[in-house]
Amino acid sequence: MAAQDPRTKYSNADFPQQEQPIPGLQKELNPKPDCGETSYTGHGRLKNYKMLVTGGDSAIGRAAAIAYAKEGADVAINYLPAEQVDAEEVQQVIEEAGRKAVLIPGDIRNEQFNYDLVEQAYAQLGGLDNVTLVAGHQQYRDSIKAFDTASFTDTFETNVYPIFWTVQKAIDYLEPGATITTTSSVQGYNPSPILHDYAASKAAIISLTKSLSEELGAKGIRVNCVAPGPFWSPLQISGGQPQSKIPTFGQKEVLGRAGQPVELSGVYVHLAAEESSYTTGQVYGVTGGTQLD
Ligand code: NAD
Ligand code: MG
Repeated sequence: MAAQDPRTKYSNADFPQQEQPIPGLQKELNPKPDCGETSYTGHGRLKNYKMLVTGGDSAIGRAAAIAYAKEGADVAINYLPAEQVDAEEVQQVIEEAGRKAVLIPGDIRNEQFNYDLVEQAYAQLGGLDNVTLVAGHQQYRDSIKAFDTASFTDTFETNVYPIFWTVQKAIDYLEPGATITTTSSVQGYNPSPILHDYAASKAAIISLTKSLSEELGAKGIRVNCVAPGPFWSPLQISGGQPQSKIPTFGQKEVLGRAGQPVELSGVYVHLAAEESSYTTGQVYGVTGGTQLD
């Protein structure tokens, strides 16, 4: 038998309780998520592509950025200035893969920054074949009374508006064949009452993916979405989950454990690569078993 058992491919032991302020740093996370630094092998599926990844410093965005580089792409990553240390680790892996890494720190809640981000990525990479939108904000609250306007706004300004702003600018540069990949969540289908705003924002991302795919398909640009289940990441221990849920995070899934970011790499690569040329307006679930419906 050549294939690995998905239940035991990664540990399903309890995670240690730990808390970090927002944004959490991958460098401080214990254990470290596997983002494909050594475990992902490329096969030239994105040779000479130019890609922009938001949230590319850590966890899911890092896994996408690293896989893209190992598949032959030059990659610009965006992240918050406080995450510079994580971003530099990603830069090193991209450069070790023989590709160009462009670091563009900045806060995507700022409308103008999103336009500048796309322009800088295009200018510094010398083109743009894909925009991968992974950045996100998730803060749990105990009840609807505990949500306030500022936090609700923060969630939508991080998770939803930048898709609208980056795509508005990116379509000035994207040519037929280019792709846009968004990142939703199982929460977009199965909303949890401790994440009212986050879940609603992730449902909005699914809707935007579908409506954008219809408009941009006419220009030869494909738009698809990845919907992860529980993945071990800094977002979860910086307020994404109550501390009491951290040790057993992911264990209730059919496969019995949390996902590791590298287990999403293949889907992000697939949706940007030539092999998915007939796929647009779709949501790909990578959930450990929870159904998307
Ligand atoms: P993460 O903390 O590694 O990634 C989130 C990233 O968002 C940060 O690295 C940060 O760079 C970026 N970000 C947040 N606010 C920002 C801002 N104002 N400006 C610029 N960048 C900002 O955690 P992750 O779990 O890898 O999350 C990545 C994405 O995956 C998020 O959209 C999240 O909602 C989604 N997701 C995660 C899970 C999970 O279980 N980890 C499940 C479903 C969906
Ligand atoms: Mg980060």
